[in-house]
Amino acid sequence: MDVQVKRIHEYKRQLLNALHVIHLYDRIKRGEAAEVTPRNVLFAGKAAPGYFMAKRIIKFINNIANVINHDPDTEGLLRVSFLPDYRVSLMEQICAATDLSEQISTAGKEASGTGNMKFMMNGALTIGTLDGANIEIRDAVGPEHFFLFGLNAQEVGQQRGHYNPQIYLQADHDLQRVMDLIQSGYFNAFEPGIFDPIIHAVTHPQDPWMVLADFTSYKLKQREAAELWHDQTEWQRLSILNTAASGVFSSDRTIAQYNADIWHLKPLIMTP
Ligand SMILES: *Cc1c(COP(=O)(O)O)cnc(C)c1O
Repeated sequence: MDVQVKRIHEYKRQLLNALHVIHLYDRIKRGEAAEVTPRNVLFAGKAAPGYFMAKRIIKFINNIANVINHDPDTEGLLRVSFLPDYRVSLMEQICAATDLSEQISTAGKEASGTGNMKFMMNGALTIGTLDGANIEIRDAVGPEHFFLFGLNAQEVGQQRGHYNPQIYLQADHDLQRVMDLIQSGYFNAFEPGIFDPIIHAVTHPQDPWMVLADFTSYKLKQREAAELWHDQTEWQRLSILNTAASGVFSSDRTIAQYNADIWHLKPLIMTP
């Protein structure tokens, strides 16, 4: 269970995950099915009513799911779902069932994140960028037990103003194939042009989220995770280590530290 559940936002990069799903599908279609580790890829999350791109990303994921789930070649290998009406009562069940937690925001954009902590506590392994509390999660569990990929916040800053997505397209044939497939209308046969805004967003030099810049390192790190899955003893060892190291995110510890560092409040002794 490969899971990305959170509000739909461009900086959270559900699109990067969606491009990777298409890449897995492409591998199956081009005859590499034997090398693809079976996955259920689950998405969920609400979009603000007026956020056009977020709504379009939900449509994109649903169309990809429809094509992949109805293609017999993917049977037993790849399933994609978008669960509607994501809320805490769903997260209570989802995070307990998750093997791989997707925390793939553009470095420097996520203040903290809390979903990442919920997944960690429940034994998921994290694939993520150096962003928000992913940094503390990786420190707590040990860098060798965390699937790190992508530009760091400083590198994202350095690229700003000089970002050229074409370089990443030319450097990664797999990425080129994914974009060609989307461009061909493969996922919107009866809805011409509806994904043009998505193609435009990720291929534009002004893409603030630098989706294509992180595709190759994401793809390779996903391959590492897929390899590790075949060693269930090792995967479960890492899962237990994640749960064991998650205590640092207790709200008692967090609030006590806020008090020690910032608030400097004296404990109130309650008398009967
Ligand atoms: C945890 C949680 C969030 C926050 O998720 P992030 O990945 O930290 O953005 C949002 N919505 C629900 C329902 C949650 O349970």
